[in-house]
Amino acid sequence: MSSRSLTHTISRKVLATAAVAVLPLSMAACSSSGSSSSGSSSAASSAAASSAPAPAGKVKVVASTNVWGSVAEVVGGDNVDVTSIITKPTQDPHDYEATAQDKLIFTNAKIALVNGGGYDDWASTLAKGSDAEVVDAVKVSGFNTKAEPFNEHVFYSMDTARKVADVVATDLSKIDPTHASDYSANAKTFGSQIDKLKDQAKTAGAAHPGTTAVATEPVAGYLLTDMGIKNITPDAFVEQAETDAGPSVKVINDTSQLLTTHKAGLLVVNGQTSDDVTKKLQAAAASAKLPSVGVTETFPEGVTTYSQFVGDTITNISNALSK
Ligand SMILES: [Zn+2]
Repeated sequence: MSSRSLTHTISRKVLATAAVAVLPLSMAACSSSGSSSSGSSSAASSAAASSAPAPAGKVKVVASTNVWGSVAEVVGGDNVDVTSIITKPTQDPHDYEATAQDKLIFTNAKIALVNGGGYDDWASTLAKGSDAEVVDAVKVSGFNTKAEPFNEHVFYSMDTARKVADVVATDLSKIDPTHASDYSANAKTFGSQIDKLKDQAKTAGAAHPGTTAVATEPVAGYLLTDMGIKNITPDAFVEQAETDAGPSVKVINDTSQLLTTHKAGLLVVNGQTSDDVTKKLQAAAASAKLPSVGVTETFPEGVTTYSQFVGDTITNISNALSK
């Protein structure tokens, strides 16, 4: 009905409740914790040693989530100082409320990397209000955002991650020409990691040809496509999941039946949140002895790189299908 992109009304409510309980006063202290902690003295001295005009110290980059922040870190290496705003699995990028400190981080940044497409409007707003060069992943993706429903979770699109890395490299080279060759080399290295991930996705998918899936949320949609897994979640479920009321009993039952009748071979859920609808579908999948797998919007505990994030997700889906 609306042209807005898919969001996760139900899970956002769950997360919001959790966030209220834990976050309010500690948020300012937590929100900059994604900042690179490697020492700044080496970058400062190398900049000082160069005769070309270079920024004092590292180039400051801000990213809305640690997934996008990790891409900037790979490209920038030791020459950038990346701060990711969303760094905790309990924080929901969709519904995050920016703090005064976040605003300051955007103000001080030379590059602001946002997902875009309605995913992290708070970040797009802060980026627009700053002097930072804005990299909007949805715009960079080249996907047709008019498609309905448009899946804004482009961070699971490996091709998009590669394009974003290239744009970040180009922007960094303009801001800090001294290290231009480093940035392009790093982006190239990232590109070869993407090639490997795409091979991994293809191989994992090919081991289970013709797999169909029901997903409670579109989070990993682009990755499922790259794995050759067909998402057969009914449109009505996808549309109604966006509403405050959530999917109707009939729509839940219809979706559930895809699992109990084995029309779908896999259930994909959000690994960071759960609600009654998810539990019902998980019960249906379990009763039909179908695998369920959780995917996440941001890095789970222990994950620090994009390759690990996507690689682990492919492995988790593959392991679920092999059970
Ligand atoms: Zn989402």
